[in-house]
Amino acid sequence: MSTIAVLAGDGIGPEVTHAALGVLQTVRPDLEYIEASVGASALKAGLPALPDETRALCDRSAAILFGAVGLPEYEGRSLQERPEYALFILRRDYELYANIRPVQVFAGLEDASSLKPELVRGLDLVVIRELTGGIYFGLPKETRVIDGVETAIDTMIYRPPEVERIARVAFELARKRRGLVTSVDKQNILETSRLWRRVVDTVAKEYPDVRLEHLLVDNAAMQLVKAPKAFDVLLTENMFGDILSDEAAILTGSIGNLPSASLGARGTPGKRFGLYEPISGSAPDIAGKGIANPVAAILSAAMLLRHSLDDEPGARKIEAAVSTAIVNGARTADIVRVGEKSLSTLEFTERVLTFC
Ligand code: NAD
Repeated sequence: MSTIAVLAGDGIGPEVTHAALGVLQTVRPDLEYIEASVGASALKAGLPALPDETRALCDRSAAILFGAVGLPEYEGRSLQERPEYALFILRRDYELYANIRPVQVFAGLEDASSLKPELVRGLDLVVIRELTGGIYFGLPKETRVIDGVETAIDTMIYRPPEVERIARVAFELARKRRGLVTSVDKQNILETSRLWRRVVDTVAKEYPDVRLEHLLVDNAAMQLVKAPKAFDVLLTENMFGDILSDEAAILTGSIGNLPSASLGARGTPGKRFGLYEPISGSAPDIAGKGIANPVAAILSAAMLLRHSLDDEPGARKIEAAVSTAIVNGARTADIVRVGEKSLSTLEFTERVLTFC
């Protein structure tokens, strides 16, 4: 029996993760689900952000269903002392280099977007973000005094194999979709971007059936709000992807709608070990109120079935249930129209469950 590690974490993490867990248990009662502590809940118990027991559970699991980590009281501390360190370690140690973020606007939610409905109706793009390289991981990363001046240093590094493997993820995906990869860089300024563009061009030769476009990141940010439907697969390095995927998320009306998968090299296609989580954080401003939108967490569970358990029918069943619930008017507070009644996290999840 496959085991799923359930790491709910902090803030709204437990609220939305338990919603997703309920859906998963309904669709796949045959799997073993084991919960473990992570983030601030672990730190408060005197444990590291990623306790040994939690890591051991992840080691023997097929996939991780993750909530969110981070609380305001830990802000300003060093990375190692913060709840977010758990996520950093998981991404680094399991080499979860491929972050897949589908961005879809559900029928009936066009009005929730900050853009005009006609610009986002039917929007369906995927951001492929490189997750274990670039400026977030490059060394040195420190603050030191140089010539008597306090100097903060981050280092952006990319090597061809890192670019090659993430580019392949994008091209393979584009092949199954509308056949367009838009690679984002800043090659007019950055050395790493020049290398990125060169390697992506080389990989593209293996995929003559896929069209490749390059965009500078500032232009990409602009095009995403000007004509988002022109994109199919958006391929980016780590930091650009972090920013652009949040921008893309808000096109759907709420950051609470967007799932993600982070996949590594362990496993085979369809049965890859991965971490699945909403793209948002722990939302401390609404935590404990029972109003968080569980869509991102539930759709992350669908991605888990697709990429780690080779269960496409199960994934589609969950996606269809979410979409039907929304078409039938189910709305949490973040996506509700003025004058309409919003549902709590639990009520929304019950609506989804009726279609599973
Ligand atoms: P956030 O994503 O938690 O919240 C941003 C805004 O979106 C808030 O107004 C919040 O209420 C809203 N929001 C987010 N998810 C929602 C949902 N499901 N339903 C309704 N509204 C939702 O970002 P933040 O406030 O910048 O960060 C809060 C904490 O989360 C910080 O400690 C940060 O470090 C951490 N964080 C964690 C992750 C992660 O675990 N992967 C990612 C980003 C931020």
